[in-house]
Amino acid sequence: MGKGWRDYGWQIRNRIKTLSELKRFLKLTPEEEEGIRLTKGLYPMAITPYYLSLIDPDDPQDPIRLQAVPRKVEVDEKIQSHGEPDALKEEGSIYGLTHRYPDRVLIRLTTFCAVYCRHCMRKRIFANGEKTLTYKQIDEIVDYIRKHEEVRDILISGGEPLSVGLEKLEYLLKKLREIKHVEIIRFGTRLPVLAPQRFFDDKLLDLLERYSPIWINTHFNHPKEVTELAEEAVDRLLKRGIPVNNQTVLLKGVNDDPQTMLELFRKLLKIKVKPQYLFHCDPIKGAIHFRTSLDKGFEIMRFLRGKISGMGIPTYAVDLPGGKGKVPLLPNYVKERRGNTFTFEAFDGTEVEYTIEEF
Ligand code: SF4
Repeated sequence: MGKGWRDYGWQIRNRIKTLSELKRFLKLTPEEEEGIRLTKGLYPMAITPYYLSLIDPDDPQDPIRLQAVPRKVEVDEKIQSHGEPDALKEEGSIYGLTHRYPDRVLIRLTTFCAVYCRHCMRKRIFANGEKTLTYKQIDEIVDYIRKHEEVRDILISGGEPLSVGLEKLEYLLKKLREIKHVEIIRFGTRLPVLAPQRFFDDKLLDLLERYSPIWINTHFNHPKEVTELAEEAVDRLLKRGIPVNNQTVLLKGVNDDPQTMLELFRKLLKIKVKPQYLFHCDPIKGAIHFRTSLDKGFEIMRFLRGKISGMGIPTYAVDLPGGKGKVPLLPNYVKERRGNTFTFEAFDGTEVEYTIEEF
């Protein structure tokens, strides 16, 4: 490990952001070289040295590489015109705030990310530069929440919310905690995956602990991402009483394989991260080439059953268009029904008839 490797600031200062820098580390394919040129200014590139170190430089199909290095397909109109920049209709009347479900809101605190993931559902925001909400914009959001007593649960996301300076983070958390009806605060952060060094800072952990209950939703997509440093980051959070749940996105070429998913969820359980969701990839312009069929998701869910405890099996879900929210999906295990007699499919593929009466 080189100088500064365990230092978050060093990781951020040394992010790889240009074609010439990246060429020093990877032998790029023409698709990638052109991709970096064509996506400049629209979907920029940034890769932490840590995340780059997980890439196998000899494999153009490496799953970390596919998530981090731009490719020409991102701007191929023939494919990307099937997607929309804001397919989930997150933008509302207050900048940085989405209120979809009655009891919860999403705050998009910043457009900065440690790594600009190529599959990001919010890649529309990359082109705006790296901007964090001002204190005035935060006040406006807090006012809205204060007036909406039905809001109990706040998801703070981005970009990367835990990249924001501690002073501003505390300003937001303090204001939220002053609101009686706010019960839960969650952070959607990919830093345990992209720059786990962020959690080696006791001042950040003190802050999160002070405003408990705080939950972390993170985003591991591949077993290669579950490293010793990621484990250390998670461990530090857990020791402060901050639970860490994971939301994986099903991505073509990256993790659309039952064995890979099984390995990912087993590794997550080992580091005490709960696989919460497996999201079907949204039709996002610039990322639609990562989309698989729904059948692929069902195949994976069916494969997992019986090979890992229920705790390790996430809810497979698809986001409905028009901002209509998530729908959980399950392969159909009820093969037939006659009255109260059902034919179920067991985990090993056999069929079992079972009469279930109410007494
Ligand atoms: S860290 Fe999250 S918000 Fe940022 S680019 Fe990756 S997926 Fe998108």
